[in-house]
Amino acid sequence: MRIDLHTHSRASDGTQSPDELVRAAAAAGLDVVALTDHDTAEGWAEAERAAADVGIGLVRGMEISTRHEGQSVHLLAYLPDPTYPPLAEGLTRILEGRVSRVPDVVARLNALGIEITEADVAAVSGDSAASGRPHVADALVQRGVVGDRTEAFTRFLNPGRPAYVDRYAAPLTDMIDAVAGAGGVSVIAHPWGRRSDERPDAATLEALAERGLAGIEVDHQDHAPAARERLRAIATDLGLVATGSSDHHGTGKVDHDLGCHTTPPEQLHRLLELAAAAAARSGRATPQPLLLP
Ligand SMILES: [Zn+2]
Ligand SMILES: [Zn+2]
Repeated sequence: MRIDLHTHSRASDGTQSPDELVRAAAAAGLDVVALTDHDTAEGWAEAERAAADVGIGLVRGMEISTRHEGQSVHLLAYLPDPTYPPLAEGLTRILEGRVSRVPDVVARLNALGIEITEADVAAVSGDSAASGRPHVADALVQRGVVGDRTEAFTRFLNPGRPAYVDRYAAPLTDMIDAVAGAGGVSVIAHPWGRRSDERPDAATLEALAERGLAGIEVDHQDHAPAARERLRAIATDLGLVATGSSDHHGTGKVDHDLGCHTTPPEQLHRLLELAAAAAARSGRATPQPLLLP
């Protein structure tokens, strides 16, 4: 069983439609794929149809933009009912913050002498529910200002760079509660990705586990091998599920091919058990994982 629990489609900042993504996952030899677009469940229905068509397992998820102790934290939520009001309201607020940031980012780029318009960004973001910095990056590529998305982020769009604009992110603990209330489970995405200070640290992760966090994404391209081993040890200590995934964005991110990291079947099994327990407690009709017999 090859299981990839973290991918993005054009419903957020991936470059494939949910249908194309699921078909690509099957072609890449995956047995189960999770669709985890940023702050939206928009791609679920299309992914579901494609998964049933190609006979691959689908776990419906999302990656929620949160903040904890002043740090940006991405929270993967699996199988929540996206209509549960505290979750739906949190996602709406995050998406509004993301979209409303675009004009400010464009204005900063213009002030740097770069010719780019909001219309350029809208042209590349198309049907995305979560238009934002990656689409500004794509527009910069189209304009020939930078060679690729990565260059756009490192030169202009990352925190500390001249066109960076802060935006709303939901409090992490509120979102862990909202996901549980929605009958889903939470896994912290790439906790030490692209950071050298190993925050959130073990004590913080322990407090989050007590709050209801179910797992840690350990095997991720942005974690160095030593960081993966330390995170795996922390997960074992705290009784948390340890996942692995590609964080695939189509051609929007290099070195994140589907299945480049995977989750062992027993870890997925534990997650699904925890999700079933959360769904029973919440009393909400949560989306069932679509799995091969
Ligand atoms: Zn992320
Ligand atoms: Zn992601």
